Amino acid sequence: MDRRNFSKQMIYAGMAVPALKSGSLPDPHEASDLKEDIKNLPAREFDVVVAGGGTAGVVAALAAARNGAKTALIEGKGYVGGTVVEGGTALHSFFNLWKAFPGVEKRQVVRGIPQEIIDRLLLVGGTTGHGDVTGKIDYDCVCTAIDTELYKLVALEMLSEAGVSVFTNTLVAGAVKKGSAIEGIITQSRMGRELFKAKCFIDSTAYGDLSAYAGAEFKELNDHPVCNSMALGNVNIEKMYAYLVSKNALGDLAYGIRDGKEGQIIRFGSESGYVIRGKLPDEFVDEVVKLGAGLITTTVHDNYLMFIKINYRMPVSPTNRDEVAKTELIIRKNQYKTLELFRKYLPGCENAFIARTSPSLNIRRGRTITCDFDIPLSEVIGAVHHDDDILVYGFHDSAPRYQIKNGGTYGLPYRALRVKGIDNLLAAGMLITSDFQAHMSTRNTVCCMAQGQAAGTASAICSAKKIGTRDLKYSDLRNTLEKGNVYFEN
Ligand SMILES: Cc1cc2nc3c(=O)[nH]c(=O)nc-3n(C[C@H](O)[C@H](O)[C@H](O)COP(=O)(O)OP(=O)(O)OC[C@H]3O[C@@H](n4cnc5c(N)ncnc54)[C@H](O)[C@@H]3O)c2cc1C
Repeated sequence: MDRRNFSKQMIYAGMAVPALKSGSLPDPHEASDLKEDIKNLPAREFDVVVAGGGTAGVVAALAAARNGAKTALIEGKGYVGGTVVEGGTALHSFFNLWKAFPGVEKRQVVRGIPQEIIDRLLLVGGTTGHGDVTGKIDYDCVCTAIDTELYKLVALEMLSEAGVSVFTNTLVAGAVKKGSAIEGIITQSRMGRELFKAKCFIDSTAYGDLSAYAGAEFKELNDHPVCNSMALGNVNIEKMYAYLVSKNALGDLAYGIRDGKEGQIIRFGSESGYVIRGKLPDEFVDEVVKLGAGLITTTVHDNYLMFIKINYRMPVSPTNRDEVAKTELIIRKNQYKTLELFRKYLPGCENAFIARTSPSLNIRRGRTITCDFDIPLSEVIGAVHHDDDILVYGFHDSAPRYQIKNGGTYGLPYRALRVKGIDNLLAAGMLITSDFQAHMSTRNTVCCMAQGQAAGTASAICSAKKIGTRDLKYSDLRNTLEKGNVYFEN
């Protein structure tokens, strides 16, 4: 759906569009005749409302609340964490890319709340810690894998400690505008429809739902496959690893904490069809490539492969519910076929079973929201810093093809989070950055978390000062971020 059609479903100045009749296909033209009187909705009032409690949203809500804002976090699922607990192999990366640059030190460039979450997870055995990736490909990366279930618990505990009002199982379903500002978000839950008012809003829904409902400009680039990552239980990791080594088919390798023991394998495997072709049986390689199955996996526990990705190219953007419904079935069939292949061809996986799948498709892109600034690849790999940096980041998913200059960092400016044309809305997460290769850096979990800290902090200041996001003094934001242990290099 393009922006113009989508906008017909928007809600302006107190008029809202109700849910479509069940069983009918959405026709935005018909639907726009149906009006909802928002005056009758139960209303709640906050300083900051964060839409989407995923990778970026959890950190945004923590930052907003810790900086004094009365904060609500609205999350459609029954838990928080988003793609970090469903799709991503591991958290990449708290560190710079240093290996290709002799003399450059490895240094931790993302700290603050993202590192605090890792520290909390360490206390309960919920992470591998930061492990260097080596191996045949020598992927220049530090891998920080997490126990996805403990992440959900720890994140909810931290939100509760910070005083965030968490509304899980609650869907952001619309926006009420007053001029160029959002007045409130309409939500849908089993308690019916409600209105959440606030001074400042953050869209961290990944899909950009809130921005789109509020009439922001967006693109639907559909330039990535979607995925459903599954976990396999009952796997003998050492046996599988030994087999890959014996066939010279091991791409990545990292060591860290597994089930409380240091120095264990926590990441291993190979890109399907790349390192393994000609080394593992052709019929296995051909099939996994056809199925879109990735063979790089991480693990926090013995006998458990946390993420086996099953990728699939949809013909349209994953905002299309009806195509997504078809894709959910295709991918689940492909997961089962992949399991059968693993059992047959990979020693150590003979008795594996599917221990976990994602409750719905994981996306790498939904809507890309137009913000005041769109960071280009040249600035990412050119290690450019700005007068309004809100974080520094040093990882690129396509390294070593794309490296940050001299193993350094680039800065993401505050402008990159301000949703164009809306006075009180910031975006954080995979929904910013249109350039494919620039996005291959900014979309990574650790960058999304750092964006969350910046967006939450900025929103808290804006709401306290009763100002729009464009009136925020950078020095105020910078000082507060530094107090929150955010690391800068300019
Ligand atoms: C298969 C896959 C593998 C990946 N591998 C890695 C990796 O190894 N390392 C890495 O660093 N990055 C990886 N990434 C990228 C990274 O995981 C994501 O880009 C990042 O987690 C996105 O964070 P986010 O906060 O933007 O979105 P999410 O974490 O997805 O959060 C969005 C949240 O919003 C909620 N939501 C959405 N719409 C609504 C609504 N209308 N109302 C209420 N709630 C809503 C969702 O339920 C979700 O909780 C991977 C991504 C995928 C898909």
